[in-house]
Amino acid sequence: MPDATGPGETAFDYIICGAGAAGCVVANRLSADPKVRVLLIEAGPSDRTWLTRMPRGFARLLLNQRRARYFQTGPDNGAKPGGEMWSRGRMLGGSSSINGMLYFHGLPQDYDHWEALGNTGWGWDTIVAVFRQMEDHALGSGVARGVGGPVKVTINPERSRLMDEVIAAGEAIGYAPVEDLNEPGPDRIGYTPFNIGKAQRSGAAQAFLHPVANRPNLTILTGTLVHRILFEGRRAVGVQAQGQEGVRTLRAGREVILAGGALQTPQLLELSGIGAAGRLRDHGIGVLHDSPGVGENLREHCLIIMQRRLLKPWSLNAQFSGWRAPLNVARWFALRSGPMAFPGFDAAALVACDPDATHPDAHLIFSRTSMDLRSWDGWTKGPQLERAHGMQLMGYPSQPRSQGSVHIRSADPTEAPEIKVNYLTDEHDRRVSIHMFRAMRRLIEHPSLAEVVGEETIPGPRVQTDDEIIDAFATYSGPGYHACGSARMGSDPMAVVDSRLRVHGVSGLRVVDISIFPTQTSQNTGAPAMAVAWHAADIINEDRLRAG
Ligand SMILES: Cc1cc2nc3c(=O)[nH]c(=O)nc-3n(C[C@H](O)[C@H](O)[C@H](O)COP(=O)(O)OP(=O)(O)OC[C@H]3O[C@@H](n4cnc5c(N)ncnc54)[C@H](O)[C@@H]3O)c2cc1C
Repeated sequence: MPDATGPGETAFDYIICGAGAAGCVVANRLSADPKVRVLLIEAGPSDRTWLTRMPRGFARLLLNQRRARYFQTGPDNGAKPGGEMWSRGRMLGGSSSINGMLYFHGLPQDYDHWEALGNTGWGWDTIVAVFRQMEDHALGSGVARGVGGPVKVTINPERSRLMDEVIAAGEAIGYAPVEDLNEPGPDRIGYTPFNIGKAQRSGAAQAFLHPVANRPNLTILTGTLVHRILFEGRRAVGVQAQGQEGVRTLRAGREVILAGGALQTPQLLELSGIGAAGRLRDHGIGVLHDSPGVGENLREHCLIIMQRRLLKPWSLNAQFSGWRAPLNVARWFALRSGPMAFPGFDAAALVACDPDATHPDAHLIFSRTSMDLRSWDGWTKGPQLERAHGMQLMGYPSQPRSQGSVHIRSADPTEAPEIKVNYLTDEHDRRVSIHMFRAMRRLIEHPSLAEVVGEETIPGPRVQTDDEIIDAFATYSGPGYHACGSARMGSDPMAVVDSRLRVHGVSGLRVVDISIFPTQTSQNTGAPAMAVAWHAADIINEDRLRAG
């Protein structure tokens, strides 16, 4: 691969930093033009292991310290003041290679809100057109579904008595039972959509990178950490990156494109002199552009776990240990079926919980497994499942207003940034959380489930008052793994990129990952990450053609 070249000569047109959900999409769509030379740089290794393909493999990948990176959050002022450990994918596909594959668009209102904030061209009409092109949906095309695209989408084929009964209980309390939860509408419940095809993960690497990896104009560099962006004057002209062969300089003739995710893109901006001037000076970094919004506006879903005992032997707990685990892996290899063929989040509901809500404001998820949380010792040790039959309900307020931050701790690019999450510091989030928690109980305690679902083991029946519910979040909540918004789009002084995703204050530099979300999308962020990156690539291609 060419290294730094002489003056006036550049090896690449675009350098993309980070090969996660967004980076893979943009690499695919920019290199579709054979004249355009693209370099995609990834800190982690390739994703070539069967664990990325087997849907249930994500539980093991989360423990794989080569392919996942861990970030300690806190301390902060939120519902979990002591902080927690966040994992992220670090390989081709990024977090889309270790994620749970729940495939949710977000709500039309999410994107229309972005547009209403002044981000022209980011409304639902634009984004749903992208989803339709991006998908190859097992249900065929529909108002919000596509066929023939690179991302395979399947509605959970693992039907079960337990989930049928939970869905029926939902219907009894007014949630519409639907085939496709992504079809816009009011309160609804149904089996979960996954980005899975033929019982295999269809993440960003599988959908966007592997099919084009042999393009002669696309270079993929793994095991290489971008340390900083290089500028000539205020124009980004390349990056300095460290791989096995040491630190090297790589030049981009047109643009440097950041796709390191919401935790590492702001870090790279700050390391490169774009951030709050005072903070940069404190770390001995020269200020190129004083941009106080870099690393601010961090949003994350605060997800609470509720567990119930099952009165029937209907949980999958026993399937993932002892002799059954290898047998189920063999079943997946041979037949592409069984408990390893789906990630385990069987069904879901999108519901309005706050009495004032005009559209669903909470995302509930139901699973036929239950964790032994008393033995929980962080992701590096792995979650143990209960021996007894149990089920899990998870829920989070969809549109959190609480804001955290992510900033460098030092000028060392290998040091993890400092993350303050500030869960539930906004009154709206606390109110929705309380209503949502009660809605979870209303559903699971419906009389139709009396012979199926038993006592609440977590957080337990002693939790009753509003204060007790909020206190329960301190122990039994965790991240949705959807942190976003830390280099947000907009035109006000706290915005980091404009609506064409160009970084304010400099040229030749864009951000295309979920850092740019002005506010959180209502459910999981994997599908929105890919759709936003798809639209970003359209914009970049358009600007190149216009510039000539
Ligand atoms: C454990 C987990 C479970 C999840 N479950 C779901 C789910 O079920 N459904 C869903 O829709 N979403 C889920 N998500 C969220 C979804 O995967 C992310 O929103 C999405 O991947 C974000 O895309 P991104 O491109 O912004 O960042 P990422 O996909 O995280 O990619 C960033 C990439 O950039 C690389 N990188 C960062 N900095 C540098 C640097 N300086 N130099 C070189 N490379 C760099 C990283 O190694 C990484 O590969 C989950 C996420 C996690 C972590």
